[in-house]
Amino acid sequence: MTKIFDSDMSAAFGTRAIHAGQRPDPLSGAIMTPIYQTSTYVQEALGVNKGYEYARGKNPTREALERNVAALEGAQHGFAFSSGMGCLDSIMKLFKSGDHFVVGENVYGGTYRLFDKILRAYGMTFSYVDTRDPQLIADACTSATAAIIIETPTNPLMRLTDIQAAADVAHSHKALLIVDNTFASPYFQHPFKLGADIVWHSSTKYLNGHSDMVGGIALVVDDDLATRLQFILNAAGAVPGPMDAWLVLRGTKTLHLRMERHDSNGRAIAAWLASRVGEANVFYPGLESHPQHALAVKQMSGFGGMISVETGSRDNAARMLRRVKLFSLAESLGGVESLINQPAEMTHASVEPARRAQLGITDGLIRLSCGVEDLGDLIADLDQALK
Ligand SMILES: *Cc1c(COP(=O)(O)O)cnc(C)c1O
Repeated sequence: MTKIFDSDMSAAFGTRAIHAGQRPDPLSGAIMTPIYQTSTYVQEALGVNKGYEYARGKNPTREALERNVAALEGAQHGFAFSSGMGCLDSIMKLFKSGDHFVVGENVYGGTYRLFDKILRAYGMTFSYVDTRDPQLIADACTSATAAIIIETPTNPLMRLTDIQAAADVAHSHKALLIVDNTFASPYFQHPFKLGADIVWHSSTKYLNGHSDMVGGIALVVDDDLATRLQFILNAAGAVPGPMDAWLVLRGTKTLHLRMERHDSNGRAIAAWLASRVGEANVFYPGLESHPQHALAVKQMSGFGGMISVETGSRDNAARMLRRVKLFSLAESLGGVESLINQPAEMTHASVEPARRAQLGITDGLIRLSCGVEDLGDLIADLDQALK
C-alpha cells in the first residue's frame, strides 16, 4: 500500500500538488518521477529485495501518484486503478453477498450499470434514493446496509448531497460513506473533512486534465481499509500502466491552476447562459438560483466547469451541438479543452429511458465541460450557436 510521507501534508494545496509524494530520482537526480516501465524487479537474494517484487503489486511511478493524490485529498493512502470503473469495482470487493447499499439515484451511469447489471447477480442489493434529502438516505438504511454511496455534484443534473449529513447517517448505521469526488476534484471539495471513509475519482477527468488516458484512484485514511484495498488491488489486478500513472502525475501538478480557470469560466458561462435561456434552465451550483446554492457554498470552495442546460427539445439540442465550433461534441469531461454532449443519448444511454425521464435527463438537456480556453471565445461560440 502507498502511505503518504508525513511531510507531504504540511504544505498548502498548490505546493502539495507539485511536490507531494515525489523525490528526485535517486539514480540520476531527475526531477520528474521516471516512468518505471517494468513488469518485475531483480532481487538480490532469495527473500532479499528493495520492496518491489512484481509490478502488479507495486510500481514506483504508481506509488508517486498515489501519494500525491492522497496528500491532495487529505488521506493517508492511495490506490491507483486502470479506470474509474475498475477502481469502484475493486472498492466493492471490500463487501460481500448479502450486503445492502444506499446509492444516489443520479450517480454516474457506469456506476449504476456496474451495480445493476453485474454486482446484483452476486447477491448485493442497492436502494437508489434522492440523496439531496438526508432523511431519505436514513429511511433506506437497513441492518444489512454496508455503505452509502454518493456522488456530489451529480452528473449531469448538478445535484448536491450534504456530505456531512450523509456521513452521520452512515456512521449511525455502522456503514461506510463512499464519495465519488470526480466533479469537484480535491481542489474544491474535501469529503474526508466531512466524514467520508472512502473517496474515489475517475482520474480520467480533472485529475489528469488533458484527455489523454483513462484511470481511477481510491483514497482512504483508515489503515485497515488500506490493507484490504491493497490486497484487492494486487489480487484482482485492475492496475494502471506506469505511463498512465505518470500522465496523471503530470496533470495533478497544475490541478490548482486549471481548476481556478475551469471555475472562473464556469461561473461566467453559467451566468451568461442564465441571462440567455433563463436561470431555471441552467444547472450550475454556483448560480444563486440553484436550489442548493447554500449547501454548495458550505461544502465546496468553488464550482468548477460543469454546466447543464435545458434547451427544450431534442431538435434544439441537436442544433446547438451541430453549430458549436470550439466546444467539441464528445463524452468525458474535465480536460483543458471544452466539450459538449447530450447525456440522454451519449453519457447516460445506459440508463433506461423511464429512469432518465424520472431523473429529468431529457432529450433536450445538454452538458458543457468548460475548458480553460479564453472566456470571450467560449461565449462567442455559444452565442453564435444559440442564435
Ligand atoms: C467518468 C466518470 C466515472 C467513470 O470513470 P472512468 O475513468 O471512465 O472509468 C465515474 N464517476 C464519474 C463522476 C465520472 O465522471
